[in-house]
Amino acid sequence: MKKQTIKEILQDYKKVLHHDITVYGWVKSFRANRFIALNDGSTINNLQIVVDFENFDKEIINKISTASSLKVIGEVVESQGAGQTVEIIAKKIIILGDNFTEELQNTILQPKKHSLEKLREQAHLRFRTNLFGAVFRVRHAVTFAIHSFFTKNHFFNIHTPIITGADAEGAGEMFGLTSFDLNNVPKTEDGQVDYSQDFFGKQTNLTVSGQLEGETAAMGLGRIYTFGPTFRAENSNTTRHLAEFWMVEPEVAFNNLEDNIDLAEDFLKYVIQYVLDNCKDDLEFLDKRFAEEQKSKPEKERAKEGLIEKLQNVVAKRFMRVSYTEAIDILLNSKENKKGKFQFPIESWGADLQSEHERFLVEKHFESPVVLFDYPKDIKAFYMRLNDDNKTVRAMDVLFPGIGEIIGGSEREERIEVLRQKMKEMHVEEEELWWYMDTRKFGSVPHAGFGLGLERLILFVTGMTNIRDVIPFPRTPKSAEF
Ligand code: ATP
Ligand code: MN
Repeated sequence: MKKQTIKEILQDYKKVLHHDITVYGWVKSFRANRFIALNDGSTINNLQIVVDFENFDKEIINKISTASSLKVIGEVVESQGAGQTVEIIAKKIIILGDNFTEELQNTILQPKKHSLEKLREQAHLRFRTNLFGAVFRVRHAVTFAIHSFFTKNHFFNIHTPIITGADAEGAGEMFGLTSFDLNNVPKTEDGQVDYSQDFFGKQTNLTVSGQLEGETAAMGLGRIYTFGPTFRAENSNTTRHLAEFWMVEPEVAFNNLEDNIDLAEDFLKYVIQYVLDNCKDDLEFLDKRFAEEQKSKPEKERAKEGLIEKLQNVVAKRFMRVSYTEAIDILLNSKENKKGKFQFPIESWGADLQSEHERFLVEKHFESPVVLFDYPKDIKAFYMRLNDDNKTVRAMDVLFPGIGEIIGGSEREERIEVLRQKMKEMHVEEEELWWYMDTRKFGSVPHAGFGLGLERLILFVTGMTNIRDVIPFPRTPKSAEF
């Protein structure tokens, strides 16, 4: 018979009721030498195994403890106790892996409360915990929903390269890539690194964004999205930045900024609704955890809504759309700014918004997700479309409660002369990007796109607060274990 997960067994228990089945899993707990809570990772719910210890070898019983792994054969029966519909009366138990008991003492598998920091130090074991099981199942569901949304809307997934030769985007500090022996780097006559002798014959980096390549694909396939890892060597040790993170970047031919904002709003709502519909058990668990966590906070820092309630509200509300100029006015006139409550006070139009300002707009002022648009050209990338005022560009950022910027995007500059001028002003080498310039030479069209940081969305959906806790193996400054 085909192996069944515990999720399938619990969901379709009527099919197996009063039958003997085989189940596999790890022991979550073993109570009174009689009740095993077994979990196989397929669901947050455990399957209860009832053991009549007199019928079993003592040696086997002694080896059953939290974290050990079992194969159990037994009959599915309606449960006597509360808390579960069915349970298994064990007929045969095979220990697949028992524990190194002494070492187990020092791991996060010990059944007690561990701090998230401690869990991070043992990231290879945290998949076994209820919390991280829930987080990573939700992460999977989000990933699936992303592909599903774009597929339904006639987009094609394009795999853009991780190794790039273009250092033009300026989205952040880059990680260089080389096959040189770093103790013996070839130099040119004037003492510079001679990249012509390197693997690719030129300087290369890990990508910071797939957008530029994505734009070229959209100029033939129409609607595309990229979904892959991106890298930024930004030395900012925040709870919202990783050195390696996953980005989703749709790019759409013939779209303008309004279309782009509509797309971002529909997209986020679809994914969140998908999680609400398909991750009920995990969300309920995360919702409880979120509520618990609020209790330990000072009253004025507590979230106004529960996690599930927050997700439902975001899906129901229309996102506020506010120009950068309006936002600056609001910030300039705010009590917070006047009383010097911001770490970076807003002094005038043109200021780059920090996360504290974004969160003020979203959490205090509008109490809703906000889309800011038409930013000053000087604080945004060269490829964003210039407005007629010559001062602002057709940029947009989607700001979420508790997170700040979750999406950044724009309508792109499709007019080659304007693009050239912008590149000159911003010192972006046109020769380096000859292939990008070509997209503006042969049937250039208006187009727009954005980038969503996957982990920021997972933070929002799971109610976790540190980005290191929503990616299996976080990469941050001074940390690349596992
Ligand atoms: P921020 O101002 O928050 O650093 P950014 O302006 O550098 O963001 P973009 O270059 O527009 O961000 O990247 C698009 C999206 O990628 C962001 O909206 C965010 O969701 C995500 N993102 C950017 N940098 C990181 C990072 N270091 N770690 C995780 N996600 C990130
Ligand atoms: Mn950044």
